[in-house]
Amino acid sequence: MLCPRCENEPETFEHVIADCQALASARAEQPDGIFDISPESLVWAENKKGWDLMKYLISFISLNKLNFPTVMDVFPFTRASQIQS
Ligand SMILES: [Zn+2]
Repeated sequence: MLCPRCENEPETFEHVIADCQALASARAEQPDGIFDISPESLVWAENKKGWDLMKYLISFISLNKLNFPTVMDVFPFTRASQIQS
């Protein structure tokens, strides 16, 4: 299935987290390192650094409502600030 945010790539976990251009501006606000989800990534490390990175990654997923259904014309995603009225 094509990613409904960019309609350019298959909607894989890696694409949405690391590559989707529709999320580039949201990614730019986050710390370095949290979008590397390779097996060697520090995100998976069982230590303070890893837990901090995972916290930021979870926050990115939550704030951008990743994997919520994408609503046409409310594209590409809904920010938490837009639904908490
Ligand atoms: Zn995409």
